[in-house]
Order: sequence, then C-alpha cells, then structure tokens
Amino acid sequence: MMNSFANNVTYHPLSNNYTNSFITATVLRLDKTHDVISGNKWFKLKFYITDAIEKKYDTIATFGGAFSNHIVATAFACKQAGLNSVGFIRGDESATLSHTLQAAKNYGMKLFFLNRTDYKLKKIPNNFNSDYSYLIAEGGYGRLGCLGSATIYSDFNLCEYDTIICACGTGTTLAGIVEKAMPEQKIIGINVLKGYTEIKQDIISILSEENKLKDFEICNDYHFGGYAKKNDKLIDFMNDLWIKEKIPTDFVYTAKMFYAVKAMINQRKFKAGEKLLIIHSGGLQGNKSLPDKTLLY
Ligand SMILES: *Cc1c(COP(=O)(O)O)cnc(C)c1O
Repeated sequence: MMNSFANNVTYHPLSNNYTNSFITATVLRLDKTHDVISGNKWFKLKFYITDAIEKKYDTIATFGGAFSNHIVATAFACKQAGLNSVGFIRGDESATLSHTLQAAKNYGMKLFFLNRTDYKLKKIPNNFNSDYSYLIAEGGYGRLGCLGSATIYSDFNLCEYDTIICACGTGTTLAGIVEKAMPEQKIIGINVLKGYTEIKQDIISILSEENKLKDFEICNDYHFGGYAKKNDKLIDFMNDLWIKEKIPTDFVYTAKMFYAVKAMINQRKFKAGEKLLIIHSGGLQGNKSLPDKTLLY
C-alpha cells in the first residue's frame, strides 16, 4: 500500500562543513489518495461520519474559512455518505465565492456566513435549527478525528520510521500519530499558526489517558507570518521542490512543513541514516486561490 504513496527525497547539505553526506526522507503522499478528499481530511472525518449515521442524524454541520480544505472534504464525504452538509463560514459572503466554497456548494453543502466575532464564538446562526445536525468542530478537531488520524499510522506502517513529521493546524492529525507512536519514535509537528501556543495542550486533551504523557515536539518557527500567509521565499521554495523532486505542496500547510524539514536538516537536527517520514497531508486545492502562474504546477 505504501509504495504507490511514497516518494523518496534526498536532501543534500547546504552548509559546507556538514559532514554527513545526505539525509534521505520518505514522503507519505496522502495528497495522492483521492481527487477531492485527499490528504489527512478523510482520515479525520471518517469516524465522525460513521458516528453521525449510527446516531441517525441526516445532516452534518461544521466550521471553516473560505479556503478551508476541511469544508470541501466534509461536503464531499457527506454527499458520498448520503448525508446533508452545512458549512458555517468565517467572513461575509463575497460576490464571488472562493473556489473552495464553490466546490463545497457543488457537492451540496449549504453555506451560512458568520461575521468574525460570531465565528470566533462559533455562534450558530438564529435561522438555523441545529437540533437535528451532527456538529463537527472546526478542522475536525476532537477525539474521533484523532482516532481517524491514528489509522494513517496503522494503514501505512509508520512504525518503521525513527522520526515522523507533519504539518499542524488544529493538531488533530498529529494527535492520531502520537496516539499510536512507539516510545522510541520522535514525532514533530510544524505549527502553521502564529501564536497558537495552546496547541500542545489541545493535542494532549484529545489523546487517550494512557497516551497523555507521551513525548512529542511542536515547532513554532515556520508559520511565515501566520495562517495562510506567504512570501516570495516560500513560493520560490515550492517551485524549487517541484522542479527537484516533483512534489507539489500547498502554501498553507505542506510547503511550510517541507521548508521546516530542510531547515532542521541544515541545523543538523537529524542523524545520518535516521529514517525520516514526512507526511504530505494534501491540501493542494488551496493553491487555486493564488494568482495564475505563481506556481509551476
Ligand atoms: C487541514 C490540514 C492540515 C492540518 O491538520 P490538523 O489535523 O488540523 O492539524 C495539515 N495539512 C493540510 C494540507 C491540511 O489541509
């Protein structure tokens, strides 16, 4: 199973006095798992969907921004499962819907727009009766999201690696990996949000009791100014990674993670021969919000 979803990337040292010849990392290409719900999103959603069906709900409602991968994934997964979907979207409805929201709408999602204050409070609009809807938190954060993400670890035999790295928004995906990790494995999350210092606590709180003391690391240095912020250095890096390795990344999550991995290699964070696994968590649809010709792919 892993073979068709794996890429090997060889990172050559950038600094001259780096004596180890190179580090080879395996990339788990979850971006290749599906055309629409690629990446980590299906893993995070699957147990919520079965739970909603078991509890006889006919509608799933969730929260997200105008470019949210979680929103499209939820819309698609609900359509596939024969459920209605509702999206509570941050910000006012703009004259033209983003690609993401248009796609969600095409999959049958009903959209409600919340102003920033109401969104922050996750306030359900008055004209929506949520009594019959199964609510999923923003980004699929929660215990079932963690358990779904844990199946990434088992489906792809992640026990074979010394170090596992993934991008973090809510940290739910990382929580799933931590849930299954063995004590000797090093788990590193690259936080793409700026100033989200509670992430570690939020991850621990969705772990099962026996896993709450497990060690994992969150790196806060590669948010590039904050969520969905970018600069030329990041865009150049994305194009470079595409040219050299044929790995497409999204500018919100995976590009920042790959950038961080490269920086960590240059800081000699890893030993030569260490088996690194980088989780490509998908999200490529988000690049459609970039101006044409920004990326070479
Ligand atoms: C949503 C998303 C993440 C963040 O996942 P969390 O489980 O919220 O940490 C990472 N990468 C991509 C591409 C995503 O779309």
